[in-house]
Amino acid sequence: MSNAAEMFGSKVFDDRIMKATLPARVYNSLRKTIDEGTDLDVGVANAVAAAMKDWAVKNGATHYTHWFQPLTGITAEKHDSFISPSPDGGVIMEFSGKELIKGEPDASSFPSGGLRATFEARGYTAWDPTSYAFLKGKTLCIPTAFCAYGGEALDKKTPLLRSMEALNKQALRIVRLFGNDTVKCVKTSVGPEQEYFLIDREMYNKRRDLVYTGRTLFGAKSPKGQEMEDHYFGVIKPRVEAYMADLNEELWKLGILAKTEHNEVAPAQHELAPIYTSTNIATDHNQLTMEVMQKVAAKHGLVCLLHEKPFEGVNGSGKHNNWSIATDTGVNLLSPGETPYENAQFLLFLCAVIKAVDDYQDLLRLSVATAGNDHRLGANEAPPAVVSIFLGDELTAILDAIENDTPYNGSGTTLMKLGVSVLPKFPRDNTDRNRTSPFAFTGNKFEFRMLGSSNSIACANMMLNAAVAESLKIYADRLEAAEDFETVLHQMIKKTIKDHKRILFNGNGYDEAWIREATEVRGLSNYPTTPDCMPHLLDEKNVKMLTSHGVFTEAELKSRCEIMLDNYSKTVTIEANTMVDMARREILPAVQSCTAELAEAIAAKKAVSPDVPRGYETGLLTKLSGLCDRIAEKADGLEAAVRAVKDCQGAVAESAAIRDTVLGKMAELRAAADQAETMTPKKYWPFPTYGELLFSVS
Ligand code: ADP
Ligand code: MG
Repeated sequence: MSNAAEMFGSKVFDDRIMKATLPARVYNSLRKTIDEGTDLDVGVANAVAAAMKDWAVKNGATHYTHWFQPLTGITAEKHDSFISPSPDGGVIMEFSGKELIKGEPDASSFPSGGLRATFEARGYTAWDPTSYAFLKGKTLCIPTAFCAYGGEALDKKTPLLRSMEALNKQALRIVRLFGNDTVKCVKTSVGPEQEYFLIDREMYNKRRDLVYTGRTLFGAKSPKGQEMEDHYFGVIKPRVEAYMADLNEELWKLGILAKTEHNEVAPAQHELAPIYTSTNIATDHNQLTMEVMQKVAAKHGLVCLLHEKPFEGVNGSGKHNNWSIATDTGVNLLSPGETPYENAQFLLFLCAVIKAVDDYQDLLRLSVATAGNDHRLGANEAPPAVVSIFLGDELTAILDAIENDTPYNGSGTTLMKLGVSVLPKFPRDNTDRNRTSPFAFTGNKFEFRMLGSSNSIACANMMLNAAVAESLKIYADRLEAAEDFETVLHQMIKKTIKDHKRILFNGNGYDEAWIREATEVRGLSNYPTTPDCMPHLLDEKNVKMLTSHGVFTEAELKSRCEIMLDNYSKTVTIEANTMVDMARREILPAVQSCTAELAEAIAAKKAVSPDVPRGYETGLLTKLSGLCDRIAEKADGLEAAVRAVKDCQGAVAESAAIRDTVLGKMAELRAAADQAETMTPKKYWPFPTYGELLFSVS
């Protein structure tokens, strides 16, 4: 296939194929399910399954799988063949509506945080018709939700869909209040910008830390790093260019609108952004994108690192979640619009987001919390762990004017009256300049910048949608009961600004002084690590909000909290064990061969002239021997710290102990080893250095 238009979506059972292959009645019924969430009947499911199978088989498929997103890891699938025995002793290719709608993977080894009794190992997967099926090799992948038999969600898709429904319900109430009766549904859209590193595969294979943990656990700073800033938007190297071209093609075939790509700040770091789409589909697409990125890299002798912090001292990778709310009639509710009414509606939605982000700072923070992302947030390269909103000067001035009943400068002497005044135009370009804000308004959408590069975007979006649904519900309750709509609207907006302006901050989010002001003066929460923030998932206000909108049950929240903390503990434990192993079996023997050779050289020198014991070799030998002792001692200390954690009871205590004891010991061991690296002659060092890894791809 040569051109992009022809290639696009060629591996997707998308609307074009459905329209062409399904009887009109079936197609219309399915469309209604996709667009409006109506129930699907068995007859329709059977017809869709048959058409899906025919299309898949024609395109070389032999198997199908219910593709889903368990609570940890990227995605999961269990392949079943289409083959059924036929009476004549042969086989036929079969796929029923029942098989399309529901699958039963043996789920006993997926994390459930106690939701599934051990004797009841099975969960089931349920087709999500809003996300198109696609082909991966010889397998038809059917996007699905994954639940326990009691209906509890065991995946990330289920609560995300529920959160979209919650927001839809409340946003519809608001647009109705603004006189819009034609809108059928309101959906959130997302465009996630994905950062990643590309390094040479051979070098990667020589580093146990990268292979086991996705990040380097040792490594002295390279003489050249990112200080020249010569990589950002720089010329893309030929090997990387070939990779990107290939990646784009593979993504286009899957119907993923990969659009922009450029180098990032760090050497070997790049970014890929798709065109935004409905949040649910964007989430599936981002999961697929991460998978395809790694697969295509392998074909090019490269490795795509999605870890948030593969290299210390070099910028890590994040994911910017560009998020907006729009009606099915194409109105972006976060766009100021043209008329006074549109302006007022925009300001109400804007306030709903401001209130949501302030009230549920903790949920947003913990929605991006992982051991990997803890290395980035607050490290002067990514937003801090404190959540705040950037609105830009113009919009801030407008809100100030509303709050204080003062004229807005741009509009001369007239006061802002909602529903009457037209908002002054604010140039969109002015809104996207502050890259240090965790949550920035960028003209007609918000950009949530705290996500880690390997995070599923599902978690952040379900919390965001739910929190905004809650603000909208409170507004709708009041407005529906109001006698004078405009006055109540004005008062509510004013009150929101007054009550929540502490979350608004247009300054430099990387500044130390901001963190002090945020926490000490404004009372914003600051949770630097995963064990700090995750337990707040179970705070009463959070449980109340999330359960009242039907996004989670209390049991689901408890299980999620436990799974996320457990995942943190396991991740760090694996890192610690890897460090001990590398220190003892690679670093110490390497340094020791060096010291042995030095000792020989010194002995040889002494043999010639017993009077010159000091010198280069002796100095180095003394230093390296000392470092060997330190490394050995620190490795023992780390090992003991990991062992001690096992005595902790429960996921909260265990993760806290890891944060308080293991992380520090890891840093100590690393410091000793990195110092040894800078003194040990190159030929002894057992694995590729930072310089070699970061500048390995030409
Ligand atoms: P940058 O942030 O690098 O300047 P853009 O802001 O143009 O780039 O786009 C970043 C991402 O935001 C893209 O994925 C784009 O599709 C997405 N985006 C643009 N408009 C919207 C919108 N209304 N809702 C959600 N995402 C959007
Ligand atoms: Mg952006």
